[in-house]
Amino acid sequence: MREDPSGAPASVVDAGRGDDSFRNLVDALPQLIYIAGEDGEIAYFNRYWYDFTGLPAGVTRTGDWYDAIHPDDLPEIMAARKRALHTGQAFEAEYRLRRRDGVYRWHLGRSTPLADGTGRVIRRFGTATDITEQKAAAENLRYYAILVQHMADAAITTDTSYVIRGWNPAATALYGWEEHEVLGRPANEIIQTHFPNGEADRQGWINTVNEHGRWQGEVVQRHKDGSPILVAATVTQISDAAGRPLGMTAINRDVTAQRRLEENLRFLAEANKVLGSSLDYRTTLATVARLGVPEIADWCAVDMLAENGAIERLAVAHVDPEKVAWAIELNESRPPDPDAPTGLPHVLRSGRSEFYPVITDEMLVAAAQNEEDLALVRRVGFSSVMIVPLTVGERTIGALTFVAAESGRHYTPADLAFAEEVAARAALAVENARLYTAAQSAVAVRDEFMALASHELKTPVTSLKMYTQVLQRQADRRGEADLADRLGRMDRQLDKLTGLINDLLDVARIQGGRIEYTDEAVDLNAVVGEAVADVQPTAAKHQIAIEGAIEGLVWGDRERLGQVVTNLLTNAVKYSPQADRVVVHLGTDERGASIAVQDFGIGIGEEHLPRLFEQFYRVSDPSEKTFPGLGIGLYIASEIVRRHGGDIRVTSELGVGTTFTVALPLTRQDAASGGVTGGA
Ligand code: ADP
Repeated sequence: MREDPSGAPASVVDAGRGDDSFRNLVDALPQLIYIAGEDGEIAYFNRYWYDFTGLPAGVTRTGDWYDAIHPDDLPEIMAARKRALHTGQAFEAEYRLRRRDGVYRWHLGRSTPLADGTGRVIRRFGTATDITEQKAAAENLRYYAILVQHMADAAITTDTSYVIRGWNPAATALYGWEEHEVLGRPANEIIQTHFPNGEADRQGWINTVNEHGRWQGEVVQRHKDGSPILVAATVTQISDAAGRPLGMTAINRDVTAQRRLEENLRFLAEANKVLGSSLDYRTTLATVARLGVPEIADWCAVDMLAENGAIERLAVAHVDPEKVAWAIELNESRPPDPDAPTGLPHVLRSGRSEFYPVITDEMLVAAAQNEEDLALVRRVGFSSVMIVPLTVGERTIGALTFVAAESGRHYTPADLAFAEEVAARAALAVENARLYTAAQSAVAVRDEFMALASHELKTPVTSLKMYTQVLQRQADRRGEADLADRLGRMDRQLDKLTGLINDLLDVARIQGGRIEYTDEAVDLNAVVGEAVADVQPTAAKHQIAIEGAIEGLVWGDRERLGQVVTNLLTNAVKYSPQADRVVVHLGTDERGASIAVQDFGIGIGEEHLPRLFEQFYRVSDPSEKTFPGLGIGLYIASEIVRRHGGDIRVTSELGVGTTFTVALPLTRQDAASGGVTGGA
């Protein structure tokens, strides 16, 4: 037998046995064991205790062994011990005990009293069990539980019979059910899942979970209040460490808002396209209503306010054409009362939206005129309604109505804001269409007037010119040089006037598509030569030079092409009053014939270049006030060039000069049959 390291009296340890074997057993146990006397003082620690703590044998007196207990835990132990001594009860305490290597390990201490025949406690048996691992595991669990509590996604667990066993706060937020309402209830009673393709989908879902242990996808489920929610779900089979099935977890996320946003954006993009595509607002609005169904609404209607205050239903849309027909009929047989205090008529009168996120049966009862009406609206099954006005400026021209019915959806303020946005865009499109139509007719009136006016002006001017020439000849004959000279100037002014009238006539003709072009092979060198010869006499200061030549011919209208060159030359002279020359560069390149008219004049600001060829466009710089003109020469020139299959470009620098370049395709041998009218 080994020497007793504790030096405890043998009688204490041998209690009840009367031999050494019990004491040997206690010493051999890999468990901390001690025995205290009736005063609570330790009388004995087993060998393992000394081995564990590394304290010298014989340390039993209170105070000495305190050293092995973590100082933070000591007060509690002392208190518990004191209480137990007082009451004579057993006690338990958790504390940290220092191992011989200095590491504290958590222990569960138990102390049990042993009473004699009279009930007096004569000893206490104590054990301490290392619970460090369990404590760590419990701690981890607590963190995991916190994690689940704070997850943004709904986390639900069920056992193998699909009975709900776990339900986190996010699940409450998502489905509206409280944890205590759902624990212990079958999951399918709480969360009704709608699979787009019905039973087939459900079976597929179960198969996937069984085969692969997991299913991921989107499903429509019901909130406690019955409204549909779109949920992105991940369902996973769970099992214990031994692989025995435990049940399922579902991690579900509400993607309703996100999907709505996507749907809204898609709808808005589509609506914008539709609204911008046509100026017939009736068709456009009807299309917008159709686009809204069923993503935005189960029913969508467009009503317009007529001039006389009547409400005119422009469109109504529902996925089911039969229901559409029914609604149209209903609207005809029972048109809305324009004086109704709420609903569509009120929105049209007030210009303010009406929003009913939840339609209750009481509301239907209150609104219905009679039993028949009530039955009707009940059949539709309204769940939520938004009516938003179509407003132009201060004026309400109509309204869009969005109704959620069979979908069970409830509109939110965000949905209302979205509907108002759609209405604003739709109203703008309607207004644009109206303005465009008005502008079109105004332009048509103007063009007609221009055609008429220029035509009417032409006849007297032609006569005037004839008489002037006759008079000039007479003056010449009579030798009245002075008079002849003035009549000559008058004649030139009449030429200018004729030119202006012709330009106006041309614009009117271009508008009406009435310019006629002849078709012939044209030598541009000759055309340019003639134009220079025409313009040179009117330009006293400028020398107009021609450089280079064009090889080849172009198909087209000789007169009209001459008009283009003359126009560019006249401008070049007109807009370079300080210069003394204009250069016409002729050449041939891969694009065909090129005529560049270069001046060294005032130049054109970059910002004007893109619009230079529009009709009536003039550079409105103060410095340009001195140059008369109508802003149609370049428009006509570019039209003529375009009709010849060519183009006209401009480069310019303020104060340095401007170059207009006309490019025209050359005839090819095999293109002899083509032509301006044929090819334009
Ligand atoms: P306009 O009868 O006013 O000259 P055009 O259509 O021929 O009309 O020209 C449009 C405008 O382009 C002119 O008002 C003028 O401001 C500018 N422009 C045209 N040619 C030149 C040029 N060679 N140099 C500077 N500005 C020019």
